[in-house]
Amino acid sequence: MNIVMVGTGYVGLISGLGFAEFGFNVTCIDKDQDRLRRLSENIMPIYEPGLKELFKKHYVDTKRIKLTGDYSSSLSKADVVFITVGTPSRRIDDEADLTDVYSVADEIASNIKKYCLIVIKSTVPVGTSRKIKEIIGKKIDKNLFDVASNPEFLREGSAIDDFLRPDRVVIGVETKRGEKILKLLYRPLYISETPIVSTNIETAEIIKYSSNSFLATKITFINEVSNLCEKVGANVQDVSRAMGLDRRIGSKFLHAGPGFGGSCFPKDVKAFSKTAKKYDVALTLVEAVNLSNRERPSLLAKKIISYYSNNIKGLNFSLLGLSFKPNTDDIRDSISIMIGNILIELGANIVAYDPKAMANTQKLYPAYNFAEDPYSACKNADGVIICTEWNEFRALNIVKLKNIVKRTIMFDFRNLYNQTELENSGWEHVSVGR
Ligand code: NAD
Repeated sequence: MNIVMVGTGYVGLISGLGFAEFGFNVTCIDKDQDRLRRLSENIMPIYEPGLKELFKKHYVDTKRIKLTGDYSSSLSKADVVFITVGTPSRRIDDEADLTDVYSVADEIASNIKKYCLIVIKSTVPVGTSRKIKEIIGKKIDKNLFDVASNPEFLREGSAIDDFLRPDRVVIGVETKRGEKILKLLYRPLYISETPIVSTNIETAEIIKYSSNSFLATKITFINEVSNLCEKVGANVQDVSRAMGLDRRIGSKFLHAGPGFGGSCFPKDVKAFSKTAKKYDVALTLVEAVNLSNRERPSLLAKKIISYYSNNIKGLNFSLLGLSFKPNTDDIRDSISIMIGNILIELGANIVAYDPKAMANTQKLYPAYNFAEDPYSACKNADGVIICTEWNEFRALNIVKLKNIVKRTIMFDFRNLYNQTELENSGWEHVSVGR
């Protein structure tokens, strides 16, 4: 079985390696030649735990992974083609930008020569897979291909494990032939009794957006509750814990913090409500989640600014954590950087430290200064801000830190520290929802 992944980013590269781990031969295509060249030198375009080792295993040792920029030779031999290109938010209207997806559909239509299953793994609004079928069907015989949807649920930071041990696999199909091929590809997961949810294509597309929007809703719900907790002297961590112990609710995604960021939730929440509007359906809850989360960076920045009587000009802040979550170098829609940008705009200086995301930040945000470790970042700081819950920030030596900073105030937006312990050590502690 020849598998081709078109788009060798987070999802394409990790799914490709996952299928190689299952024993299949996979060709990864990307239009970014530099990315392919670097990969061929074992330089990973992204940081993801275990990625470098798994890539070496299948590119160098088993040779099950091939890299190419040549659509024609790889697509003509493909049995299954996965579309795994990005679907970012369109700035003008918040809809999913499907330019790359449709351009890949054109390439597929021009290059496949024998029956092939075309699987849309990119997150796309409902109706997109059917449109891809139309685009391709205009150019080639309809018997030469089937279209299926196979949304991806991996999480950055634990992506390899998520792919190899998913909670479920969703396949949206419209022919028995397509279903059979996808079930064959995921057959190695039968041993772990992974549920394979087989639906029609539209349902599969909706499952992906509903799942992300629901998780984003949980985060936003507890964040809004945390705002109330702060006003009335309640503790949101206790609220979350008690709520989470109710098995109908569950404890995951119920931690108050800076809000959700990253390359998926923000854009998917926006695209989901936009799609519903097109069908005259109001997803008011999802819209509210988007609005509420959008306010989060300025709300938290205000907590910092008001502490300094609304004048932070010339003050030095150490910003600990830049990636949108730990164990990744992805800074797309990072709330930490949004907060940093607000402070810089008001004349503050930022010295940032992140275990993996500093290089990406440096490329896009020249106003940031960087340090080699959290302690150096805090030198002479007027305030320490923790935005990303990297393990490295969970047990800082606060006694040592006290002698490094100028002012002993910590804005702990992940609630990593015990308020009493910190205060007993001579720190002021501003956290979330407590
Ligand atoms: P990405 O930006 O990391 O990678 C996309 C890749 O596609 C890039 O390498 C780009 O060069 C390549 N590309 C773009 N147009 C191309 C073309 N015409 N031909 C060949 N290659 C092309 O994106 P990603 O994070 O992997 O996301 C891909 C899709 O998967 C998105 O729809 C996203 O919503 C979804 N998704 C992402 C995650 C995640 O955690 N990143 C999780 C689940 C689903």
